Amino acid sequence: MPSTARRLAGFTESVIRGMTRLANQHGAINLSQGFPDFSPPEELLAALERATRGPHHQYAVTWGAPRFRQALAKKINRFSGLAIDPDQHLVVTCGSTEAMMVAMMTACNPGDKVIVFSPFYENYAADAILSGAEPIYVPLRAPTFDFDPDELAKAFAQKPKAIIVCNPSNPCGKVFTRTELLTILRLAEQHDAFVITDEPYEHIVYAPNTHVHFAALPGAFERTITCNSLSKTYSITGWRLGYVQAAPHVIAQARKVHDFLTVGAAAPLQEAAVAGLELPDSYYAGLGELYAAKRTLFTSILKQTGLKFTEPQGAYYSLLDISPLGFKTDTEAAEWMIKEIGVAGVPGSSFFREPEHRYIRFHFAKKEETLRAAGEKLARIKR
Ligand code: GLN
Repeated sequence: MPSTARRLAGFTESVIRGMTRLANQHGAINLSQGFPDFSPPEELLAALERATRGPHHQYAVTWGAPRFRQALAKKINRFSGLAIDPDQHLVVTCGSTEAMMVAMMTACNPGDKVIVFSPFYENYAADAILSGAEPIYVPLRAPTFDFDPDELAKAFAQKPKAIIVCNPSNPCGKVFTRTELLTILRLAEQHDAFVITDEPYEHIVYAPNTHVHFAALPGAFERTITCNSLSKTYSITGWRLGYVQAAPHVIAQARKVHDFLTVGAAAPLQEAAVAGLELPDSYYAGLGELYAAKRTLFTSILKQTGLKFTEPQGAYYSLLDISPLGFKTDTEAAEWMIKEIGVAGVPGSSFFREPEHRYIRFHFAKKEETLRAAGEKLARIKR
């Protein structure tokens, strides 16, 4: 029998998605893979019904339906101030997952180095392998998850082609300050590297923290490849809508990668999602308040366990320090949690370069009743 490609030996299937399957198998409350159990805004649902009856059932333009790109450009402008040309600065993708893969394949030659902060969203390691890039990891250290600028400068001295910045950060909830982002930008300029950002949680940020769009920093646009998604902002993770935003010469190349990977995102869903992009500012304020209330509730739930945990500045994840529970590995702990406690999380080790087995990641993008039910179960692990 012929053997499969060597590059596939370097990574496993997604641990996050695997935990969802295990949760379903055991009927556990699923706080592992981050997605809501509540409905998208009514405006999107109504638009989706309308879209089913419209002429949107064949391929859209490969880099995105014009109406969707126009609405997207306006929405990006509203929140970042950037003047986005829908025909030159955007490629619509199947989620930020595809956007990141497109960004990596567009920026990197095989053998190029890419800086990745650790902890990191697990896709980045696989994206690096699939695009032939080699990660250089720079730690974000608990409890604040700040980076050491000298360590970052040393990583840049290795001449990376790009750095990946997930902001707000999954899994640690860090929201990078303007000063931190400027430090990253100065180093990227000095070493002529791309900055690939992943920003699906831009509207889920807790006061007093605020989201700074990297591409909108002075002088940043030309070297920034922004990846983003509509999944979290409009509670439509299953629609698989995302985008790459970059300078025209980068987009011209990114379009090619995207075209041959997927041809395009689902046409009727692009049509329907325009209703989301056109929602007023009050929608985003409401989303922020909704998640702030969920964070408060989930914080009180985790406090009852008597264990330490991270309180995010943005996004909707907490890392629970399960080391006092005495398990050999976090994977063992996560499986026990699903089978015996009835709540699913993700073993933290899948997000760290370092051998870190202290954490289980839980998310709180769930209805209040779901979170309370999880709370009752989690109370049983109290030390
Ligand atoms: N971002 C979500 C998480 O970290 C899941 C995204 C996905 O599975 N594509 O859980």
